[in-house]
Amino acid sequence: MNKYNKILPKNYKTPFSFDQESWMEGFITGLKHQSNSINNNIKEKNDSETLINILFGTQTGNSESVAEDLSNFALSNGFKTQINALDDIEMNNLSKMINVAIITSTYGEGEMPDNAQLFWNALSSNTAPQLNNMNYSVLALGDTGYEEFCHAGKLLDTRLEQLGAKRIIKRIDCDVDFEELAENWINSVVPKFNPDKKLDAVNKDKTESIVKSWSRKNPYEAIISYNTLLSGPNSNKEIIHYEIDLGDSGLKYEVGDSLSIIPRNKQLLVDQIIERLHTSKDFIPSGYEIDIENLLKFKFEILTPTKRLIEYVEKIAEDSELSLILEKKDSKALDDFKWGMDVLDFMNLNPKVDFIVEKFLDLLKPLQHRTYSISSSINKFDNKVHLTISSVRWKNKKRDYNGVCSTYLADDCNENEKIKIFFTPNKSFRLPEDKDKDIIMIGPGTGIAPFRAFLQEREVTKSSGKNWLFFGDQTRDNDFIYQDELKDMLNKNILTKLDLAFSRDQKEKLYVQHKIYENKKEFFSWIENGSIIYICGDATKMAKDVEDIILKIISEEKNCSFNDSIDYLNKLKKEKRYLRDVY
Ligand code: NAP
Repeated sequence: MNKYNKILPKNYKTPFSFDQESWMEGFITGLKHQSNSINNNIKEKNDSETLINILFGTQTGNSESVAEDLSNFALSNGFKTQINALDDIEMNNLSKMINVAIITSTYGEGEMPDNAQLFWNALSSNTAPQLNNMNYSVLALGDTGYEEFCHAGKLLDTRLEQLGAKRIIKRIDCDVDFEELAENWINSVVPKFNPDKKLDAVNKDKTESIVKSWSRKNPYEAIISYNTLLSGPNSNKEIIHYEIDLGDSGLKYEVGDSLSIIPRNKQLLVDQIIERLHTSKDFIPSGYEIDIENLLKFKFEILTPTKRLIEYVEKIAEDSELSLILEKKDSKALDDFKWGMDVLDFMNLNPKVDFIVEKFLDLLKPLQHRTYSISSSINKFDNKVHLTISSVRWKNKKRDYNGVCSTYLADDCNENEKIKIFFTPNKSFRLPEDKDKDIIMIGPGTGIAPFRAFLQEREVTKSSGKNWLFFGDQTRDNDFIYQDELKDMLNKNILTKLDLAFSRDQKEKLYVQHKIYENKKEFFSWIENGSIIYICGDATKMAKDVEDIILKIISEEKNCSFNDSIDYLNKLKKEKRYLRDVY
């Protein structure tokens, strides 16, 4: 039932889908609040008892920030709110909740984010409680570039319904540009938790401060004040250190947070695609206000092909291999097929095929920001933010390829160049408030970034907790980035222990997990003494292998079964002593 049913004939059906209706409801509610606040017609807060439990599952902090936005909106409208990470919720507490808003991202290939896995294990088990008194709605954050788009949100949504909970608004699945949909979902879902209640206006000061703050929609134009190549002349990598000036932005960040950058596409690729489209740079496609050159440079993702583009090309290109893969829905074969291929390669699968410009643009996604773990502490480098980025480049016999943002920064941004930035806070990856607590940091490659920031912060705040870093990369001679700084930190006893794994300096591969295992007794005693473990870097292989080694160490040192070691690690996760910033 939608709220327009009240004034429309009983059998009237709106011409909109449920999603569209929900969106419009949110939009209209938002407008209503805006105009209320413009008129300064702020009613007194209704002291309603309605409590909304806002539960989030996050990997990079986005779900948590939506949770906070929802809470602010609800609080300013007289609701009570309680925000928790999903893993903080025990099933017996869940069964008592009446109004629940869930925001969750999906991690990797359809997995739960780190702070939602334990919750999901309990919710999906046979012993999960009935939830007949619960009203709920799920906002799922995801990326259509992945096969299992918004999978975690879908699982939670379905399972809650199975357990008897009442879905009050259909789940909204968001792509990477989630902000607008999230805002509309918030505007729609909050009133549904108490339909009799008239919403008050959004607090005006709060609205203004939100408008003023820098965000994806309103990025700050910062200057890269310094950059330097960290990797050596014979490295297989190009790792660059960037220093960005926060100027008069008033922007602040905390160690563990990330910085997002809005990139531009490479001119060469733009030119090649325009040529392939058989059009001219100044052509303005119908429905757009700017020419194709600017659209391709600033507005669309033109490197990674979307699923839509691949499916469209398959229909017109007559490539039997691709057709067979799509027919069989073989995602592994599709991954192998498209490995290293970009949008232009797909356009050229059959060079005889022509593309209508507008249709082609429909097959692309908007150009997205890229997010990097910050490698500095603002308390050590006043008004500055440092990044440590490995430029993504690859080639085949025919062409050279460049990752979007890393090479935009490396090739197209000279010192003093302005770049569009905003911060992406990550409250789930922070130093402990207790400065005496020991920390273990595992960060090979550019995974070292947040740990450089952690060490600076521990130095500035004169923290007495011990700091142990596991770092590695291919070769000591070329890839031991920040070597002097780390040695200095060791000398000053800020860095208590440094263990290094250079994988290609000997015949057998040596990885950080091998160094962890070599030190297993001490590693385990640090854990038993309350240390927090942080992992940053590659999610697909490194983070999984490191976790396996940690489980092995627990089981050997505690002399317990593998299952007991999983329970032990789950306990660390619950206590927020096993934290990961991996992708
Ligand atoms: P990398 O490719 O991860 O390589 C660093 C070292 O790890 C190399 O010595 C490599 O050895 C080794 N390695 C390879 N497989 C491993 C495994 N299974 N277990 C342990 N070590 C392994 O370094 P990078 O080029 O700097 O890339 C870092 C990755 O982390 C990227 O995927 C990046 O996107 C990600 N990253 C994520 C974050 C974040 O989540 N916030 C921040 C920074 C970086 P060999 O190459 O010799 O095998």
